[in-house]
Amino acid sequence: MLTVRVRFAPSPTGSLHIGGARTALFNWLFARRQGGVFVLRLEDTDTGRNIEEAVTQIQSSLRWLGLDWDEGPDRGGPYGPYRQSERFELYRKEAQRLLENGHAYWCYCTPEELARQREEARKRGEVPRYDRRCCELDEATRRAKEVAGIRPALRVRMPRTGTTVVRDLIRGEVSFDNSTLDDIIIQKSNGGPTYNFACVVDDAAMNITHVIRAEEHLSNTPKQIVLYQLLGYDLPEFAHVPMILAPDRSKLSKRHGATAVEEFRTDGFLPEAIVNYLALLGWSPGDEREQMTLEEIQSLFTLDAVSKHAAIYDVRKLTWLNAQYLNSLPLPRVVEAVLPFMQEAGYVSRDPSAAEVDYLSRVVEAVRSRIHTLVELRDAATYFFRSDYEYEEKGVRKHFSKPGVIDILARGCEALAGVAEDRFTVEETEKAYRQVIERLGIPGGALIHPTRLALSGRTVGPGLFDIIATLGKEECLARIDRAIDWIESFVLSGAKMNKPF
Ligand code: GLU
Repeated sequence: MLTVRVRFAPSPTGSLHIGGARTALFNWLFARRQGGVFVLRLEDTDTGRNIEEAVTQIQSSLRWLGLDWDEGPDRGGPYGPYRQSERFELYRKEAQRLLENGHAYWCYCTPEELARQREEARKRGEVPRYDRRCCELDEATRRAKEVAGIRPALRVRMPRTGTTVVRDLIRGEVSFDNSTLDDIIIQKSNGGPTYNFACVVDDAAMNITHVIRAEEHLSNTPKQIVLYQLLGYDLPEFAHVPMILAPDRSKLSKRHGATAVEEFRTDGFLPEAIVNYLALLGWSPGDEREQMTLEEIQSLFTLDAVSKHAAIYDVRKLTWLNAQYLNSLPLPRVVEAVLPFMQEAGYVSRDPSAAEVDYLSRVVEAVRSRIHTLVELRDAATYFFRSDYEYEEKGVRKHFSKPGVIDILARGCEALAGVAEDRFTVEETEKAYRQVIERLGIPGGALIHPTRLALSGRTVGPGLFDIIATLGKEECLARIDRAIDWIESFVLSGAKMNKPF
């Protein structure tokens, strides 16, 4: 049986964006579902624009998303090298073959001449296309151009009549009138290959069975099919995945917020949520399911379930999914994901002890149901790691300015002091607090709200007893004492300052 071989072939000119990541994901899913091979090929022939940093970043984004490749620049494989810049020899050889067979010809038109030709075609109301003036140059004219030092490009003679049909696994049959196909350049005047040529030569040389790529390349496909035929290669299957548009159906761009995988990573998104979301951009499992693991998606993914229609990118849905994952993934996984954010903020040391990780786990458990991103998680957890927070002004007015609040807080503090250190749990501390409330005959909020403000500086957050049990006895007592001092010195004296110390 034929082994499925697919490839993701980014041009390393910048970071990996969601469109590219979705193409990579669909290739990966298809390969994994079919027990096939996923190849990473870098299309870096346009050396002027390539950034080594982009190469590193694309690979690191793919790895972070969990999209591992079987063959690629870093791991090698039987069809390497996997960087087009290292395969020029092969492109030259194949271009030479087309030249010798009479399928290609040298074109001496300069960029200025070509621009003029295009302008004239436009004026005549025609689609700008190469006018094929170098197609039948005689030897003497060619030699004269060479002597004049003009370095030619190599063009391919495209069929002038008939149609070329792209059989696309997603879009069905798409016909192109051959008269619209330009005599494309396959080798530039500097000797380098063009995208269409290198792509075909490599897809054939690497035994790619399915070319799964962005819809924007559909118009290149008839030209590539002609190249396959002229070179005598077998055709692969083609599948063009739909575009991703912004909610207003315009082209997705910077103004729609983060679009690079790296940005999502620093904004606190989980790779689990991103791959899940990307899978839903143009594909669906055929039912209402939305939250699915990569394994589940992999077991269900087929190309014929991919839509022909543009997918609409909706950051709200991604954010919602991220929150679902933060709340439902195993706790150690969320702790691992948030750790770098906590280290960056200086809340957890670079080489955390087991006790630190344990404390962080309890904090994450306490706050994770209320946040959407790891950045929000970090910010929601600040007071678990620092005690120099300010008291929320609204809270001060509502809870610290009530008559008798100092006495109530002091009773609460005494009650917590009475709970043994090794029994300082959610249940025990709550029991102690309930007794105070009952004894004083006050509404629960009269003790609970000011205590929350004292311990966190905030009026909302996780359950108070989760905060208490996580912070631990010593810290709770110190923070309540400090709040009492603060209320005495500022609120009761009528001062409006909001400084904790
Ligand atoms: N380097 C091309 C791109 O990044 C690859 C297109 C293809 O998959 O053929 O768009």
